[in-house]
Amino acid sequence: MNNPLESARQQLANIQTILKIDPNIFERLLYPDRMIEVAVPVKMDDGTTKIFIGYRCQHNNARGPYKGGIRFHPGVTREEVMALSMWMTWKTAVVDIPLGGGKGGVIVDVKQLSQRELEALSRSYMQAIFPLVGKNQDVPAPDVSTDARIMGYMLDEYESLLGERAPGVITGKPLSIGGSLGRGYATAQGAFYILERAAEKLHLGKEASVLIQGFGNGGGHLARMLHKAGYKVVAIADSKTTVYRSEGLDVVEVDEHKRMTGDLKTCEGCEKLPIDAVLSLPADILVPAALENAIHAGNADTVQAKLIVEIANGPTTPEAEEMLLKKGITVVPDILANAGGVAVSYFEQVQNAMNYSWTEAEVNVKLKEKMETAFEAVWGEKERYTTSVRMGAYALAVRRVAQAMQDRGRM
Ligand code: GLU
Repeated sequence: MNNPLESARQQLANIQTILKIDPNIFERLLYPDRMIEVAVPVKMDDGTTKIFIGYRCQHNNARGPYKGGIRFHPGVTREEVMALSMWMTWKTAVVDIPLGGGKGGVIVDVKQLSQRELEALSRSYMQAIFPLVGKNQDVPAPDVSTDARIMGYMLDEYESLLGERAPGVITGKPLSIGGSLGRGYATAQGAFYILERAAEKLHLGKEASVLIQGFGNGGGHLARMLHKAGYKVVAIADSKTTVYRSEGLDVVEVDEHKRMTGDLKTCEGCEKLPIDAVLSLPADILVPAALENAIHAGNADTVQAKLIVEIANGPTTPEAEEMLLKKGITVVPDILANAGGVAVSYFEQVQNAMNYSWTEAEVNVKLKEKMETAFEAVWGEKERYTTSVRMGAYALAVRRVAQAMQDRGRM
């Protein structure tokens, strides 16, 4: 299994061969500023106290406070959190928001917890990282298996400890306590804008066919948006099944089925295939929207799509990407394609700071502009250095971060 930290460092090393930033800055960027491991004790329903292991990694804050989500997942590792925090640094720089990069995670299978235990875990984790976070220090948000409700518990815990209201400390909150309209589906909305621009560059029309791996917050919302816009979503995979229909799935029905039954196994009017099948079916566009390392050296050769748009963080290993590029496949990287989530997180913070809220339409107009500006800038870098879209995005991001470090005299 690929180590995501090695992938993240490899990507940075690759851009260094093109950009040749100050080697001292490059060296510094390979390491996070701070990585902490915390014990997260939870009083379980049976009366015992169980200790979960959590992390918060702060990679870089040259451009602004550390920013990034918190993941609750059994597969969380120290290296994974470090890699994800690095990717956040590049992501916030690509969309040019005044934030740095951080990430958190707890090793836990939320499906094994009761509602009360989940709330206790969220509060206990916030207690553990309390000294490190703050609206001008480090700002968490949701990620895999965490949501607005969990952000609500964490905000409440933080504010109770602080003794005052501080909504800007966390984003992706419920609307009633300072959340932003449009934040819930922002990652998918941002990816939608990027996918449209990329499809245009490749001369793929609205009738293009799409494969989506992952039916969570990113993949689920994107599937519905693409379906509504007229794209042919031919396959969707959750963590157990791929459903496929070459003429296009009825996404609304699939979604309803998933919501009612909790899985796709018994979905009607489509073929049921193994989970990995989704990656190699015939279609124009592939959207990995699950976890890291989905496309690796062992399966990259089977990809038939012409365009890959990464909603997951780190779904393509560097080795796999080399193989895809050789086949002429365009890969639009995570640090651009999934930056809509953190972009609207930033909008949420701005609204909190102003003590004012924007309409959903205002948020989406701003998001569209941010994403399209970033897309054009990345595409420009790609052409300038005759390189991949990922390296175009890295060129832009690493240059911006290096500039901020230089301007602070940090070298
Ligand atoms: N977890 C999301 C990401 O990976 C959002 C982060 C945020 O809003 O801070 O980009």
